[in-house]
Amino acid sequence: MAKKQFKTESKKLLDMMINSIYTHKEIFLRELISNASDAIDKRYFRSLTEPEAGLDRAAYEIRIEADKEARTLTIRDNGCGMTSDELDKNLGTIARSGSFEFKNENGGENKEQVDVIGQFGVGFYSAFMVSDDITVETKAVGEPTGHIWHSTGIEGYTIEEAPKDEVGTVITLRIKEDAEGEAYGEFLDEWKLRELVKKYSDYIRYPIRMTVTKSRKKEGSPDDKPEYEDYTEDETLNSMVPLWKRGKDEVTDEEYATFYREKFFDYEAPLKVIRQKTEGVSNFEALLFIPSHAPFDYYSREFEKGLQLYSSGVLIMDKCKDLLPDYFSFVRGLVDSADLSLNISREMLQHDRQLKAIAKAIEKKIASELTKLMENERDKYETFFRAFGRQLKYGLYSDFGMHKDVLQDLLLFPSSFEDKTVSLKEYVSRMKEDQKKIYFAAGDTVEQVKLLPQTEAVLARGYEVLYLTEDVDEFALQMLRTYSEKEFANVSQDDLDLATEEEKESLKKENEENAGLLSFLKDSIGDKVKTVRFTNTLKNHPACLSSEGALSIGMEKTLKKMPGAEEGIKAELVLEISLDHPVAAKLKALYESDRDKLAKYGRILYGQARLISGLTPENPSELADLVCELMTE
Ligand code: ADP
Ligand code: MG
Repeated sequence: MAKKQFKTESKKLLDMMINSIYTHKEIFLRELISNASDAIDKRYFRSLTEPEAGLDRAAYEIRIEADKEARTLTIRDNGCGMTSDELDKNLGTIARSGSFEFKNENGGENKEQVDVIGQFGVGFYSAFMVSDDITVETKAVGEPTGHIWHSTGIEGYTIEEAPKDEVGTVITLRIKEDAEGEAYGEFLDEWKLRELVKKYSDYIRYPIRMTVTKSRKKEGSPDDKPEYEDYTEDETLNSMVPLWKRGKDEVTDEEYATFYREKFFDYEAPLKVIRQKTEGVSNFEALLFIPSHAPFDYYSREFEKGLQLYSSGVLIMDKCKDLLPDYFSFVRGLVDSADLSLNISREMLQHDRQLKAIAKAIEKKIASELTKLMENERDKYETFFRAFGRQLKYGLYSDFGMHKDVLQDLLLFPSSFEDKTVSLKEYVSRMKEDQKKIYFAAGDTVEQVKLLPQTEAVLARGYEVLYLTEDVDEFALQMLRTYSEKEFANVSQDDLDLATEEEKESLKKENEENAGLLSFLKDSIGDKVKTVRFTNTLKNHPACLSSEGALSIGMEKTLKKMPGAEEGIKAELVLEISLDHPVAAKLKALYESDRDKLAKYGRILYGQARLISGLTPENPSELADLVCELMTE
């Protein structure tokens, strides 16, 4: 059977493409400026071997002119221009990229110098999103005359010979009339054009100039009654050389800070600047900032993480989420790579794995820079941790400790050691020879947990205790389970393993011998506690509350605070009474002589133990009455 060719309705195709591939109409300017920059690159490249074809390096420029009356926007360049034939091929064929061909032909060893932007051959047509009358006046290097390409949209185009003095291209768009929801007229506003150049084309390496109108005080007008006049001035709108393309030593802290503030809308300078340049599997440069404080919406749903993504200095994406893991979502900055494979609208990447490779390298870099900061600039790190430590802990918790290798050494906790905040590594490095566990106490404030009887008991043995005061702390440690093979132990929950064999033995005996007393106390307190038992590690305190099972007292508090918390969330409480305290002997005696009183004492001890643990007594007035009864005996 004869093979038939697919036919294309190129008009329809053009229309479809123009209106469907781009999310934002405004990118047309980015596309035309990128083309102009490519054209200058080509001319410059040619002049390397044919000096007469080029201009003085400093003379290359791109100019933007807006005429509101005529409703025209002009983009002018002194690049390579196009012959009549090239006009026909490049602007008459969708998906034909003269720039891509140029790159292929001139690539090889000189690849660095032909870092052109164009590749798909569709960018130019994006101009039809904002205009339905486009003129391209152009003259190529070495041609005797110029040509004009003209099109009023999808109907087609004409090419005519026309005189032109200078080599280069002038593209004039008649901007569409404003329509409902579409303020095309904006693209003729000076501020809008300035904004778009800054946003998308700030790092185009040739100056993008515009004659702008400014206002100044009229000379000679009195100071108290100043008169103003407008004047015009040429202004270069783009910065040209990206900060991150300059040598590390060439950029001052002040420059980084200004750049950061302007670009990421922060009023404070960053805490740390990170530069990364990688060559090999993935070629990219990154300029990253660790903010010195959390933005006001950081811990809310509104906050969007992400890094800016540039391809050869042109902005592709403003917040590329996939470049940052959630636990480093506070990092601001950008990534620039010349060899990203972009999709046709140049708004996204085609290959996920490129992004993944970059993201991985960035994650590693951030972690290592934070570690360095912790080791070498502790004050700064503590500032950082106050702002973003919670995010790191959430990170540990939310993916079930999957990233603990990255995160565990970045954590800091307040500690009993010289009242400092310490890392787990530091804690473990100081552990005593006979110390089996990493001890922590959890509660609302450092002051409160410091005074827990159980904390004192551990401190009395000379062990260090971490003070956990944030909701997420215990949950994060639970995900870690161990650090450097040492288990974590909550001083008011887990078996602390503090007692000697002898002590354990005698405690066991006491508990057995007094089983009747203990179960009487338990019954007089009721369901609120699971067990009452003696302990011999509390030293100065009469009693304390501990918990058994998976849920600690602190976790119960946190879970109860969460919206939609279930009713049944309860830590299993154990009332521990100190054998070393005179109250133990008193209880034993009352068991023989006065059970009524014993029951009351049991309830008092329980109420006090709740207070010490940072819990309110379930029945405060009963507790107060009982204590008063004692006082008036
Ligand atoms: P791309 O830039 O991806 O190649 P475009 O549709 O933007 O695709 O442009 C198509 C081609 O038209 C370019 O590759 C280039 O050869 C040519 N071209 C566009 N604008 C200019 C210009 N200002 N000067 C010279 N050539 C241009
Ligand atoms: Mg292009």
